[in-house]
Amino acid sequence: MKRRRKTKKVRVGGLFIGGDAPITLQSMTNTDTRDAEATIRQIRELADEGCDIVRVAVPDEQAALALGRIRKGIGIPLVADIHFSARLALEALKQGVDKLRINPGNIGSKRGVERVAKACKERGIPIRIGVNAGSLEKGLLERFGGRATPEAMVESALGHVAILEECGFDDIVVSMKASDIGRTVEAYRLFSRRAAYPLHIGVTEAGTSFRGTIMSSIGLGVLLYDGIGDTLRVSLTADPVEEARVGREILRSLGLRKGGVTVTSCPTCGRTEVDLVGLAREVENALAQVNKDIHVAVMGCTVNGPGEAREADLAIVGGRGVGLIVRSGKIMRKVAEKDLLRELLREVDRFDKDID
Ligand code: SF4
Repeated sequence: MKRRRKTKKVRVGGLFIGGDAPITLQSMTNTDTRDAEATIRQIRELADEGCDIVRVAVPDEQAALALGRIRKGIGIPLVADIHFSARLALEALKQGVDKLRINPGNIGSKRGVERVAKACKERGIPIRIGVNAGSLEKGLLERFGGRATPEAMVESALGHVAILEECGFDDIVVSMKASDIGRTVEAYRLFSRRAAYPLHIGVTEAGTSFRGTIMSSIGLGVLLYDGIGDTLRVSLTADPVEEARVGREILRSLGLRKGGVTVTSCPTCGRTEVDLVGLAREVENALAQVNKDIHVAVMGCTVNGPGEAREADLAIVGGRGVGLIVRSGKIMRKVAEKDLLRELLREVDRFDKDID
């Protein structure tokens, strides 16, 4: 994996994005922001899944006015997502949000942009410029032959950046998302050669849990492996909690986030002696909230299971009626098949690598 590209470090509430700060995980609520209680509930669930920063849509005044209450009810930085309106942005800042997502080129009046930039500067609030391939400026599209190419996406982002810089504002985070991996990756690569603003990475409109997880894993994986990306969001047509779960696993799989149990399981074959699919799922669910940095393997037969699981800290190996508990490659004991999960959880509980 390449060394992470050096970017400017900006503060978002109690966290930082960019520079030497750890890569943060973001998600966006899908509750009605005006319903502060429902939004707070969902944000708490997201935080429990490892989400570091949360964004909420602010389509109108009532939603903007709910932000203060939401901010007080949560423990992670809050980002207001606003389109076209300086008035809503100023209200969101008044309500105490930690970051704005707004494209200055879409605000309309120069005066409006200046007021938003000034208010952000006074409060130390950063702005994310979010370019989406599906909504590039008309003039830009014409210049690039009517196509939202990676070059056009980068030009759009740099155009918005220039507007803020003219206002003396540079606490900027940039995203350039397309619904396909090629353009997304290329846009981020091109941008990172031209500017050092921190990058929020993601593949947009990636699809349902199944397709979106694959698209995001490849897109974000390629970028992160290239050393690009300071904060990320996985976009899924699903419960946002699922987004946080997938994002966290992407970071953990690349070694970019510690904490949490890694569950591996064998692919099953003709030798499988237990309902391994069900057992692996039960193990994954039971350990989802355990904050221990350990590797647990779930294996399907006593012939090859113990050997194949020797890299795991703990393993359960299914057998016909009885299974094995394995610790660091050594068989500890035999247990009844029905007790495998319970015995594993007991071992996890005893395991001494607690990072809390
Ligand atoms: Fe097959 Fe056993 Fe290997 Fe699982 S551990 S894939 S059941 S040989």
